[in-house]
Amino acid sequence: MIKSSSLKSICVYCGSSDNGPAAHRELARDLGRRMAANGTRLVYGGGRVGVMGAVANAVLDAGGTVTGVIPDFLMQREHGHHDVTTLEVVANMHERKARMAELSDAFIVLPGGLGTLEELFEIMTWRQLGLHNKPIVLINPDGYWDSLLGIIGDMVAAGYARPECADLVHFVADPAAALSTLEAQPTGPTHIETGRL
Ligand code: AMP
Repeated sequence: MIKSSSLKSICVYCGSSDNGPAAHRELARDLGRRMAANGTRLVYGGGRVGVMGAVANAVLDAGGTVTGVIPDFLMQREHGHHDVTTLEVVANMHERKARMAELSDAFIVLPGGLGTLEELFEIMTWRQLGLHNKPIVLINPDGYWDSLLGIIGDMVAAGYARPECADLVHFVADPAAALSTLEAQPTGPTHIETGRL
């Protein structure tokens, strides 16, 4: 049964590799099934591979809606997913990230590599600069992202980041907690200042 959620679209950032632990792809499938059941659209990087492919296929298999956003030059490398509800092929990485952020009400980060980290830091810093007000949740299975929490703590301790920066992203254990954390955020119109990205 499809429930209605206040979150119409969630952007998921995650790895493009299949070489990580199988449990991470299973986590992605769990998230995808929950989003489909809630009637929440998935916005993601548009590929068929890795954790990205796992979350997209789970949403589609459960009858949900998926928008992929992929630069033309990655169509081959990341196996552009032609079976998603909508596949937007854009000119470059900057356009991809701006479009993914514009289409989404919130962000969830799953395990991934350098690209995932880059996307996370960009969306965190955009929020820090007041360029958007959309909530960000990071799913941290088995402490995968613990060292990231550590470096953020080090930045705050050294005075390079304000203590509030630790509140820019919520660390949670699993997809159920990610979705309930996002649902519990103060509601109100979200915005993103695309002209300044
Ligand atoms: P990875 O976590 O490295 O597997 O990458 C996850 C996703 O991030 C892939 O779709 C990559 O294309 C994307 N990505 C890689 N590098 C960047 C970057 N500099 N900016 C934004 N996205 C990136």
